[in-house]
Amino acid sequence: MTALSKKRRAKLQAKLDKHHGYRHYEDDDIAVKEIKGCGLGVFAQRQFLPAELVIEIHGQLLRHDQYEGSTYVMEMDEQWYMEPAVPAAFLNHSCSPNCELVQLTKYTMGLVAICNVEPESQLTFDYGWQADDWIPECRCGAKNCRGWVVEKSQVKKMREFAKKREKKRNKAKSA
Ligand SMILES: [Zn+2]
Repeated sequence: MTALSKKRRAKLQAKLDKHHGYRHYEDDDIAVKEIKGCGLGVFAQRQFLPAELVIEIHGQLLRHDQYEGSTYVMEMDEQWYMEPAVPAAFLNHSCSPNCELVQLTKYTMGLVAICNVEPESQLTFDYGWQADDWIPECRCGAKNCRGWVVEKSQVKKMREFAKKREKKRNKAKSA
């Protein structure tokens, strides 16, 4: 047995993605697209009206008590998290989102428009993370941007976090 060559690996991976859907998703209503210098995002390909279901989100279900927490996990209920599959895995946060998440069935979530969504606009929801640890700064560009990808109630805590971090950095610099 010889190891996979780079070329053959790329060819087989493309086939796998296409036929088994691991990284491939086809839907006329939405599209996963690259955002310049910012990774991937999910974009509306048609208009969605307020309260309209945009996509059904599938994923791996994880019990709260057995989960250490990755960043992109969605909270379903008191017992379960969902690690969303493609394309929902590429949904970005916004402090002024155009969608929200609801639990649709026992095993799936729904992305629902909360305002009029024009074609070609990026679909976003509010991640609302807890400031238990360092949380990335937000660059959503919304007028009311909270500065970090955290829930409204957590902003104060995050500011304190940031101050401490800054102090530590300055100390390291001067040492
Ligand atoms: Zn923001």
